[in-house]
Amino acid sequence: MKDCRAAAFHEAGHAVVGWALHYQVQSVRIEGASGRAHSLRPTHLVATDIKACEAEAIIYRAGKVAERMHCGASADTRSAGFIDLEEIRTLAMVIDPTDVCSVYRRLL
Ligand SMILES: [Zn+2]
Repeated sequence: MKDCRAAAFHEAGHAVVGWALHYQVQSVRIEGASGRAHSLRPTHLVATDIKACEAEAIIYRAGKVAERMHCGASADTRSAGFIDLEEIRTLAMVIDPTDVCSVYRRLL
């Protein structure tokens, strides 16, 4: 039950911040201890634009931040945040493939 609650806060964090950044939240699904929030990028943003990459990094980070705010440090044992970090690393590669480490640290 505790993991389901953490997953709910995690996915809600993605959805709320996505909505605040004008992404169209399509769905939020919780299944056991994992979940998924699906949002559409605003039409004025292109996936490879730095502004879109930065916005999406913020949305990815929001899941773990919301989880920690509501569930404390014990939420750090969940693996969902690692997937988000991988997505942020991918965004860093889009922003500047020659300096991924610096961009990645800036996005975190
Ligand atoms: Zn997440």
